[in-house]
Amino acid sequence: MEKKQFQAESKRLLEMMINSIYSQREVFLRELISNASDAIDKLYYKALTDATLTFNKESYYIKIIPNKEERTLTIMDTGIGMTAEELETNLGTIAKSGSLAFKKENETKDGHDIIGQFGVGFYAAFMVADVVTVNSKALGSNQAYKWQSEGADGYSIEGTDKETIGTEIILKLKENSEDENYDEFLEEYRLKAIIKKYSDFIRYPIKMDVTTS
Ligand code: ADP
Ligand code: MG
Repeated sequence: MEKKQFQAESKRLLEMMINSIYSQREVFLRELISNASDAIDKLYYKALTDATLTFNKESYYIKIIPNKEERTLTIMDTGIGMTAEELETNLGTIAKSGSLAFKKENETKDGHDIIGQFGVGFYAAFMVADVVTVNSKALGSNQAYKWQSEGADGYSIEGTDKETIGTEIILKLKENSEDENYDEFLEEYRLKAIIKKYSDFIRYPIKMDVTTS
């Protein structure tokens, strides 16, 4: 499979994220939940103007799935999804609001101060993950696609199986090192606290299966 290169500016932001020693790296979750919510909004607005679509509020939600065995954290949404072309343009290049604001500010300020002030977008995932997989099926599409990247050396896109419209982002969490521990992002109580802190205002339900024992 062909490996594609990130656009130069994307690569720069990505490298900052990968090398981030930023203490508030937990904001990656805010960014991914915010994107999930935007994707559901897009479906909602489409339903307002398209008589063939109905927006049934109960069917729209965001789900957070920690998996300790696999060491993955998945953020899934029932939003509008992305086509192969959209995966390419949206995740391979920086063109969007939050990321752009970040990039501009970054020319004058120290990166570590501003990550918390501006949306840093999708690439914030690389603060905690060394492999990011995005499975997505766009509204009106029969084929789903998988975007995958291990960081700055590029990404790949291929067809995949996914039943439902929407997106799931699977983060393969970084291995712990002497100074860094990523296990907290697999703990339900910790995830709940992060969601409460940064994503309390999100209009759609944020679900997580809770272990009872
Ligand atoms: P921003 O949210 O500021 O546009 P991001 O870097 O957070 O920038 O996201 C880039 C783009 O990728 C989004 O604008 C959107 O088009 C797309 N995207 C990211 N996550 C999702 C998702 N869960 N569902 C659909 N599209 C998404
Ligand atoms: Mg965003």
